[in-house]
Amino acid sequence: MSIHIDKQKCISCGKCCKACPGSLLYQDEYKKTFIKYPKDCWGCTACIKECPAQAIKYYLGLDIGGRGGHLHIKQEEDYLDWYITSPQGETKKVRINRKESNQY
Ligand code: SF4
Ligand code: SF4
Repeated sequence: MSIHIDKQKCISCGKCCKACPGSLLYQDEYKKTFIKYPKDCWGCTACIKECPAQAIKYYLGLDIGGRGGHLHIKQEEDYLDWYITSPQGETKKVRINRKESNQY
């Protein structure tokens, strides 16, 4: 599992670095985020949920999208919109209410 950070989109807010439970994300001399140990990322998506610029993509495993499939997340007030793109480029949106996401 791994993520990809688009430095052109990154606005250097640092939120992802604070959110990563594995302390894998750092900022370079221009305050752009990079992942130091990509193999250690376990795909929790915490950084992706925090990014206000949709600069972080998560690459999906073969079992849930296949090679080249990825997702990114956009914040819309109380909602997180998960955009899931297949290897063929087809994108689907899944909307989750943040306030209800931890209810069982
Ligand atoms: S997906 Fe989770 S473990 Fe991986 S870099 Fe982001 S916050 Fe860290
Ligand atoms: S949360 Fe997004 S915009 Fe902010 S530093 Fe991280 S990658 Fe850049």
